[in-house]
Amino acid sequence: MKNFRKELWFETKTRRAYLNITPQVEAAIAESGIRDGLCLVNAMHISASVFINDDERGLHGDFDRWLEKLAPHEPIDQYRHNDTGEDNADAHLKRTIMGRETVVAITDGKLDFGPWEQIFYGEFDGRRRKRVLIKIIGE
Ligand code: ZN
Repeated sequence: MKNFRKELWFETKTRRAYLNITPQVEAAIAESGIRDGLCLVNAMHISASVFINDDERGLHGDFDRWLEKLAPHEPIDQYRHNDTGEDNADAHLKRTIMGRETVVAITDGKLDFGPWEQIFYGEFDGRRRKRVLIKIIGE
């Protein structure tokens, strides 16, 4: 069995962002040379997510509005986590809702997706450098 590890780096210009990272994951699979196996993609930060959904702008806005309703960024003092001097309690909650990672099967050297599935990096406390881990195992 082969294994392959790679980190992707992101620094979004906005506090929240939704990036389609499928091309970078496909490039990692090609680089790994693995034809059949599993591909784990996870956010390495507790204020960002990796999730699978549709690459449709209206839906991304819907996610953003829904998350802001569930865990509004402001007022900052509504969260006990922010008593530590941080202002990102909402980002921790949004990350938990949207998830840490995805695992996708690799078949014949390609992501074995269902219809319309794409991999996204969800940023909830951006404007700083953050990482995503890709780990691929198989043969
Ligand atoms: Zn925090």
